[in-house]
Amino acid sequence: MSAVAPPEIAAIADRWRTVRARVDAACERAGRDPASVTIVAVSKLHPAAAVRAAVAAGATDVGENYAQELAGKQAECGELAVRWHYIGRLQRNKAKLVAGKVALVHAVDSAELAAELGKRTATPPQRVLIAVNVAGEASKGGVAVADAPALARAIAATAGVELAGLMTLPPPDVDPRPAFVALRALRADLEAALGRPLPVLSMGMSGDFEEAIALGATHVRIGTAIFGSRG
Ligand SMILES: *Cc1c(COP(=O)(O)O)cnc(C)c1O
Repeated sequence: MSAVAPPEIAAIADRWRTVRARVDAACERAGRDPASVTIVAVSKLHPAAAVRAAVAAGATDVGENYAQELAGKQAECGELAVRWHYIGRLQRNKAKLVAGKVALVHAVDSAELAAELGKRTATPPQRVLIAVNVAGEASKGGVAVADAPALARAIAATAGVELAGLMTLPPPDVDPRPAFVALRALRADLEAALGRPLPVLSMGMSGDFEEAIALGATHVRIGTAIFGSRG
């Protein structure tokens, strides 16, 4: 992968510190412990050197969207003690590139994909989130709110995976807050239905992470605000 010039490395460190401070301030406004929010630094389409720069500045969690790119960057960054996250849509035939290799798979949208991940994971089980298409957009990945309970029950019964919570990716250019509220409400419903906690709410990106934290996000997925534009 291409090198990253020193000024860009300094810019990533600066942007990381700004994001960290904004997350901490949003937590304070919401009366939340900053330790309850994980910043997933989304490095898709940025080189391994950019990941190293973010980690040197303090990032502990790194998110990738493409299975092949994840595998490549993990190989290049093997020395880094970070938690990797897979945040993109995942085709079943790529599950083997991801299963057991990340702390969390954020966007599971079918029982078949969960089963494939489970089959390809040794121990411990692969932690996964259900991607919920809260706004009901036709083109987006994720399950409809109405279909989430059945998928949650199916995943809860699948060997090799552990359902940890929910994620959403609201449509661009609309107020994301109704989607965040709806995801949180759905989580409460599913916790009641399953009789156990679902600790993770993955919601909020560069443009709206403060709103997401105010509404209960435990994981914010932040790319541009840390790494700059993706070209
Ligand atoms: C790219 C991406 C992000 C990060 O988006 P930014 O706006 O650059 O912060 C977050 N979540 C998902 C699912 C993404 O694909």
